[in-house]
Parts: sequence; C-alpha cells; structure tokens
Amino acid sequence: MALVFRSRPLTLAGMELSEGLREVRERIARACRRAGREASEVALVAVTKGQPPEVVRAAADLGLNLFGENKVQEAKAKISLCPARLRWHMIGHLQTNKARDAVHFFEMIQSIDSLRLAEEVNRCAEKAGRTMPILIEVNVAGEASKFGYRPETLLAEFERFNGLRRLEIHGLMTMAPWTPDPEKVRPVFRQLRELKGECEARLGAPLEHLSMGMSSDFEVAIEEGATIVRVGTAIFGRQKA
Ligand SMILES: *Cc1c(COP(=O)(O)O)cnc(C)c1O
Repeated sequence: MALVFRSRPLTLAGMELSEGLREVRERIARACRRAGREASEVALVAVTKGQPPEVVRAAADLGLNLFGENKVQEAKAKISLCPARLRWHMIGHLQTNKARDAVHFFEMIQSIDSLRLAEEVNRCAEKAGRTMPILIEVNVAGEASKFGYRPETLLAEFERFNGLRRLEIHGLMTMAPWTPDPEKVRPVFRQLRELKGECEARLGAPLEHLSMGMSSDFEVAIEEGATIVRVGTAIFGRQKA
C-alpha cells in the first residue's frame, strides 16, 4: 500500500542524504539530552545554498520542510521549482534592492543587519500587506569579514526597531567564527543569549529565537540555548565547486 510507493529504489545520493540527515538528527537529540532540553525545542533549517531543486525535493521527501538560502536570486529560481508547502528562511546578507523579493519569497528574514535594511523590509512588507518575521543578525566576535550588528550598536538602536510596525522581531541570529574546536566558540553563543536577555528587557517582552550553530558547532550552540540551527554541509555533504 503506501509502503509500496515509498520503497522506490534510492539513488546513491539519496542514500547519502538520508544518512547525513539521520546523523544530524541524532546529534541534535544528544545535545538536547545533555542540555536537559526537548528535541522539539530546536528547529532545523536545512541550508540548501548551492544545491539544486532535486536535492531540496529529496530532502523534503525525507521529512524536512524548513530550508535556508543566502542569496535572493538563487532562492527565487529554486523555490518555484520546489513543493509549495516548503518554508524558506533568508539567512544571508540582504541588499536593500532585494528586500521586496525577500518579503515575497521568505517566511522569515534571519539576517537583518542594519536599521536601513529593516526600514526597507518594513516598507516592502507594508506594500505587500503583510508583516515580516525577522531575526537581527549580530556579529558577536566583531569579525571584519562578517555582517551583523555589534552588540553595543544593537542595544543603542534597538528601540528604533520597535517603531517598524510591519516587522515582528522574533530574536537574534549569529554566525560564530570558524574553528576546528567548537568549544572555542561557546562564549560567542553565550554572549548572544545574554544579549537576547538585554533586548527582552528593553522590549518588555520575551523573544522566541536564538538562531545559532552550523554543521561544525551546532551541539555547543544547542547547549547554550539555540532554538534554530542552520545546517548545510553535515546534511548535504561538501558542495561540488
Ligand atoms: C552556509 C551557511 C550555514 C550552513 O553552514 P554549514 O557549515 O554548511 O552547515 C549556516 N548559516 C549561514 C548564514 C550560512 O551562510
């Protein structure tokens, strides 16, 4: 019956994908157990930048429904070729001239990194007659190569976000510096959690999300309170250049 349809032969790529996904789910579950949290408290965003729509569809067949892209142009082409029920988050630097498309194609923009961008997204959301869930991206470690607010700048500007009525601030996002030893970036995740607390105090309301942790460091991020992890390589393998 239903099983007959599901047992179609898997390609090698499909097999690798299911292995990678199973492993990531197990790593998430183990990190949650260590932290005394429920696995259901951590949402997995499967990062499909550089991956073709076939791979997204194969991932969707394995039960994934939340995907992350870092370029509007690429996402726009891909999303229309994927099942309409899938949900998409923008996780890369967004140029103001792409804000309109981002509001159209994404359920959430995780990478709001300036007030100017926030204002433009607010304007586009107003025009589109919707509200836009966002996360504010923070450059905790102050790396010159990364986008995102410095914590002190965010706190100074935070109240001005509140005036943007078409934006719903759901929390904060960060990308930790790359290191072979994920323990080294634990302080970065901890600082983002503390900063969320300070933002909540200014807001007078709780913020739901901390989006932190990628393939190499998501366990540590979960131990420090991540509610969203963004994982590409550990699920899909290294990208063929
Ligand atoms: C690519 C990317 C990820 C996923 O990185 P992996 O190391 O492949 O898991 C997460 N977040 C952002 C913002 C990215 O650009």
